[in-house]
Amino acid sequence: MTHTTTGLRPGSERLAALQARMREAGIDLAAIGPTANMRYLLGFAPHADERLCLLLIGTDAIRMVVPSLNQEEIAAHTDVSLIAWADAEGPQGALRQALAALPAPRALAVDGAMRADTLLHLQALVAPQAVATVDALVAPLRQRKSAEEIEALARAAAQADRAMQAAIDACRPGVTEAEVAWAAEAAFRQDGAEEVNFTLVASGPNGAYPHHHSSGRRLQPGDAVILDIGASLDGYKSDITRMVHLGQPSAEFLKAYAAVYEANQHARAAVQPGVTAGEIDRAARSTLEAAGYGPYFVHRTGHGLGLETHEPPWIMAGAATVLEEGMVFSIEPGVYLVGQFGVRIEDIVVVTRSGARNLTGFDHALVVKD
Ligand code: ZN
Ligand code: ZN
Repeated sequence: MTHTTTGLRPGSERLAALQARMREAGIDLAAIGPTANMRYLLGFAPHADERLCLLLIGTDAIRMVVPSLNQEEIAAHTDVSLIAWADAEGPQGALRQALAALPAPRALAVDGAMRADTLLHLQALVAPQAVATVDALVAPLRQRKSAEEIEALARAAAQADRAMQAAIDACRPGVTEAEVAWAAEAAFRQDGAEEVNFTLVASGPNGAYPHHHSSGRRLQPGDAVILDIGASLDGYKSDITRMVHLGQPSAEFLKAYAAVYEANQHARAAVQPGVTAGEIDRAARSTLEAAGYGPYFVHRTGHGLGLETHEPPWIMAGAATVLEEGMVFSIEPGVYLVGQFGVRIEDIVVVTRSGARNLTGFDHALVVKD
């Protein structure tokens, strides 16, 4: 049986915090699938497949509808009352029984990442006047990390530093992008990663595409290579981008690299509790604009990181989210010159009372290899 634990037992305080937010927002029932939201709330989420698995949170009572084959395992991880259903009978009876223990919802909040067929089963049995997403209620809880979560993210970041070294070591002329990606993946696996989430290797002109998929292209002398890798450790994600250059870089490349590095540094220096996410984006973007690269920075400056690789807060133009101690996010400015090369330098930082602490430890200097 596959499942994902966070390695942490959060207890019931997270459920209680969500119930408090539901009362404030006038939500009677929250329906959560086996997603990162469930992992956050229970410290555990069973393997997600087509079998209905649903955590139903009322403001005063909680029930969980589970496939009977997973019941024992789920019971070992949570004190929530379980109502199991067997393959031969289907989930509808168990779902009806769970809902009978909760008040009929006027306002329902559903997990944005749960399966549509689960939602249809639920909608066959309840008729709320309003349906919203639960993510807006959970995000303020999830985006402010506890000390234990920050430690887990720091361990994951340190593991990504080690995998980055393996990826850099694998870069040489004649090797394919896919082979470099495999070197990073193998390093993560040997180091105990539960899951390798992405190993993006973009060489030469491929670097100009921010979400390039590692291909069979062979690295060549003169290539700039973007290495963007991330994995899961104890349920928490890593994400780092560094660059290798094969042979001596051109003056044009070095100018772009210096500008992106400066943007990364300026964004980090702007991090303080009380400033907005939009101000962090502005710090990076204005640096690249001043260097003439404004039109070539084609994405947001960063994203939150935790149980998911991409989660709130979003570090983007105009974002009003006010930074708080314990928030963790990426700072990853980039410049993309189609037909030539791309540059991106990405770190994970945590907001502390005195500013940003870098969880990513890898040196920022361009690695130049023959
Ligand atoms: Zn990344
Ligand atoms: Zn990222």
